[in-house]
Amino acid sequence: MSYVERVMSDLETRYAYQPVFLQAVKEVLNSIQPALDKKKDYEKYKILERITEPERIICFRVDWVDDKGEVQTNRAYRVQYNSAIGPYKGGLRLHPSVNLGILKFLGFEQIFKNSLSGLPIGGGKGGSDFDPKGKSDMEIMRFCQAFMNELFRHIGATIDVPAGDIGVGGREIGYLYGQYKKLTRSYEGVLTGKNLLFGGSLARTEATGYGVVYFTQSMLAERGESLEGKECAVSGAGNVATYCCEKLLQNGAKPVTVSDSRGMIYDASGIKVDVLKQVKEVERASLSRYAELVSSAKYTPVADYPKGRNAVWDVPCYAAFPCATQNELNEADAQALLKNGCKCVAEGANMPSTLEATHAFLKAGIAYGPAKAANAGGVSTSQLEMEQNAGMQSWTFEEVDSKLKTIMQNIYRSAAETAEDMGVKGNLVVGANIAGFRKVADAMLAQGVC
Ligand code: NDP
Repeated sequence: MSYVERVMSDLETRYAYQPVFLQAVKEVLNSIQPALDKKKDYEKYKILERITEPERIICFRVDWVDDKGEVQTNRAYRVQYNSAIGPYKGGLRLHPSVNLGILKFLGFEQIFKNSLSGLPIGGGKGGSDFDPKGKSDMEIMRFCQAFMNELFRHIGATIDVPAGDIGVGGREIGYLYGQYKKLTRSYEGVLTGKNLLFGGSLARTEATGYGVVYFTQSMLAERGESLEGKECAVSGAGNVATYCCEKLLQNGAKPVTVSDSRGMIYDASGIKVDVLKQVKEVERASLSRYAELVSSAKYTPVADYPKGRNAVWDVPCYAAFPCATQNELNEADAQALLKNGCKCVAEGANMPSTLEATHAFLKAGIAYGPAKAANAGGVSTSQLEMEQNAGMQSWTFEEVDSKLKTIMQNIYRSAAETAEDMGVKGNLVVGANIAGFRKVADAMLAQGVC
């Protein structure tokens, strides 16, 4: 058995009940063999055994009181995965599906993504199985305060800096920040994605979605192609999807779909981002509302999707942008995209494609931007927010946006050059994983066994 096989087999025995975590690890370990061959110290000092195990996991109970006066209990976690190259950094997810396995997958991905960004940030992730849907503002506030009543002990501007993720946007970050400040009496950049009134950064809201498009532009430029005039399929209707659509439109492309957990919109005339924001950010409604407001839009509920499939990927497009959640694009979806002539896939969500779908894209040789590289704009701009907080400065939108663009171009170059060095030109999965892995692994070696 090879080193990778031994480590993988041990993890499969130990964590059989965490399938998405195992999937994320498998994707990385299966692609870094060339790096392991070049440096035997990784095996000698058990880097794979150590890097796959979080440095610390904090599990806690969150008790809060709903609007009816009833006591509610949720389970919450912070996975402090790896701090070899900087303080733990990664979002908080509030969704009923959250469990430790999901947060370990997200935290593990975050280590390599943060490393690849070229910025000094470690990897972490957290969240709770609290469901924000249908909750009043006051309920959201009471939950966030109760969540922070425990989390505050474990985070800090140079220790661990959480941000948003599914179910956590500006409103939630505001409540979390207020409670942190109250408990610690410290006004510090302990969370990112904050409101501009108290230390937020311009362009942080837009960063992940915009960054995906900047990354795609670099990827396509190398192939002598561009997004201009092209139809695009986007999934999701939250932060990442919305700003991905906005940037596509600004670049002359036409996003024709968006989706949420209940259904999808196909709008042949192009997604109207102002209507999307009104429906999802202001009204917090289902996408069926979009179809009420836009006559050219067709709404399909999830119940009408083909069995075992995501109907978004049946829409013919030049480029696909999965921006909702993990494993939302399977092998059959990938084959449907390829059959319809899709030439480019860039992942806004974390691990949206199954391993089989990823293989199908790589085999077809289309431009494929894996999440770790393509969606790193969010965390990178979070780091820019930390930089502004530390220097007590605020930069203009243009300044932050231009730094974001440069970071995404550098991430593309780093992944593409590493792939070429490893003899697999164009394979950005190998390129991103190895470029991200080497920096963290070398830092761990240099810091000794600790
Ligand atoms: P949001 O909560 O803003 O939006 C998530 C969107 O995905 C919503 O439209 C939601 O539908 C939909 N969705 C969630 N779960 C499912 C599901 N199981 N099936 C179908 N649709 C689903 O989250 P973000 O936009 O912030 O995050 C989206 C993805 O991007 C996640 O994978 C996240 O980890 C990743 N990401 C986010 C970053 C950020 O800066 N926000 C940074 C990097 C990655 P509904 O409206 O019905 O709930």
